[in-house]
Amino acid sequence: MFLEVDGWKTDIRFSAAHFIPSHTKCSRLHGHDYFVRARVYGEAEGEFIVDYLELIQQLKIITQRMDHRLLVPVKSTSSTYKIENGICTISYGDKEIRISKIDVFEIPTASSASEEISRYVAEELRKSLSGNKNIEMIQVCVDEGPGMGACYEIKFRE
Ligand SMILES: [Zn+2]
Repeated sequence: MFLEVDGWKTDIRFSAAHFIPSHTKCSRLHGHDYFVRARVYGEAEGEFIVDYLELIQQLKIITQRMDHRLLVPVKSTSSTYKIENGICTISYGDKEIRISKIDVFEIPTASSASEEISRYVAEELRKSLSGNKNIEMIQVCVDEGPGMGACYEIKFRE
């Protein structure tokens, strides 16, 4: 059994800028309105698998960190960045981006593609749900637009 929340209908969304160094078009700095969907698999404990409102609130807290910021992947092997005097300088290929540190979110992933954003959101959600022993698995999907998204699953136990 699973419980599902759909950010398109429950306003779990954020807007962010990113770049994909290895991709011709997407290596240009650009942005998306991202929407998050999540499923929580398990048996109900009492009446619920998890409280919908708690799940929506946690996902909003996690995603708001990225809202209206440039996502800078900390573990990237195709781009580098440094922060000095409040300025973040990102370099990849023959490009350089300079931006105020406060406008950046350092995402602890290798890339800022939806695949890695969904992994990050799922790992953060796992931390906030770790006390729920009835949960078997979570799935988090991050949509870059209608009908286009990547999902990441984390098993809580085998
Ligand atoms: Zn993009």
